Amino acid sequence: MNVRFWGTRGSCPAPGPETTRYGGNTTCLELRTEDDHLVIFDAGTGIRELGLSLTEHANGDAITGDLFFSHAHWDHIQGLPFFAPAFQKGNQFQLWGSPALERSLEVVLRQQMSPVVFPVAFDQLSARMEFAPFAAHAHSGPGYELRAVNVRHPGGALGFRVWPSGEPQRSIVFIPDNELDRDGDRAEDASTRDALVDFARGAKVLIHDAMYTGAEYMDHRGWGHSSYRDAIDFAIAAEVETLVLFHHEPDRTDAALDEMLALCHQMVQERSGRVQVVAAAEGMTVGV
Ligand SMILES: [Zn+2]
Ligand SMILES: [Zn+2]
Repeated sequence: MNVRFWGTRGSCPAPGPETTRYGGNTTCLELRTEDDHLVIFDAGTGIRELGLSLTEHANGDAITGDLFFSHAHWDHIQGLPFFAPAFQKGNQFQLWGSPALERSLEVVLRQQMSPVVFPVAFDQLSARMEFAPFAAHAHSGPGYELRAVNVRHPGGALGFRVWPSGEPQRSIVFIPDNELDRDGDRAEDASTRDALVDFARGAKVLIHDAMYTGAEYMDHRGWGHSSYRDAIDFAIAAEVETLVLFHHEPDRTDAALDEMLALCHQMVQERSGRVQVVAAAEGMTVGV
């Protein structure tokens, strides 16, 4: 099972010469099961280039897949109107979102394509776009199984754990937007934290929100994002093999991300942790 990063940035796209290595597109991941079933996580601006790649490789065949949304904040949905396969008749996507959102995913995605803000209506998409019930926070798809968990983020958001059918030891956990604050005055209560640690426990790969430095976090308490330090503590507690820093701050240049990564390696060493830490970059793949 493989994941490719098409968008790694949080909050707002950040194109330009200083973000070419880690990428400027907002959240989008492509997961391929062993028999090549397509699973997409989030539809930030990265989904535009994913769409071009899918169309190119389809050679005219129909494209089908599952599309899971962590939540409906702009940086996780804004690429969908530019997802070329959605405009192609014969293609078919199932759209999964949390039923706990204040407004349903369907309402938000339709509003994003209403005439005041976008020229093409959702109903003009030629592909079959089916909104799927996701009340149980669990789904078994072709060749994969998935669970979701509510995380701490304004308006609510989901984290996901996905693995090849029957092989939960080969899990990838994806938590793009989540506020961890272990020791601060916004600390989660112990049972909430334990439940989240259990959710991620033993994963091969944990892709987690690591938007802020410690100092930045102090200025953004309650905004729903984590410092890299808290992400590392969480990864060590959950005994994951690899932590992928994700949802990069829009102003973070490639050079600044390199520096942050070096501090992460130092911190893991200081804590005698065994987790490998990398930073998500557009085009990067991870496999389990
Ligand atoms: Zn976000
Ligand atoms: Zn968000």
